[in-house]
Amino acid sequence: MPKIACKCGHIMNIGSLDEDFAYDLISQNALWDIIDTWSEKKEFISEEFVDSFNNESVEVYECPCCQRLLVEEAPNSNRFSFYKKETE
Ligand SMILES: [Zn+2]
Repeated sequence: MPKIACKCGHIMNIGSLDEDFAYDLISQNALWDIIDTWSEKKEFISEEFVDSFNNESVEVYECPCCQRLLVEEAPNSNRFSFYKKETE
């Protein structure tokens, strides 16, 4: 199972599809383009829909230990930027 390490040292197992710290981030414009495209199709094919969503969205993980956000830099890049929560 793929793993990703936070800056705090916590290792997150990803790819099991039941993580509650995993999110997808997509621009509203890209989302509406996908919805427009799919609203005109006669048949909804979930695999194709997920592919078109994944091509426009980035993965985001919220570290369960320190609440840092790990935000993928580009769709399917598997490179992440780290964002630490400001507390003041
Ligand atoms: Zn962390």
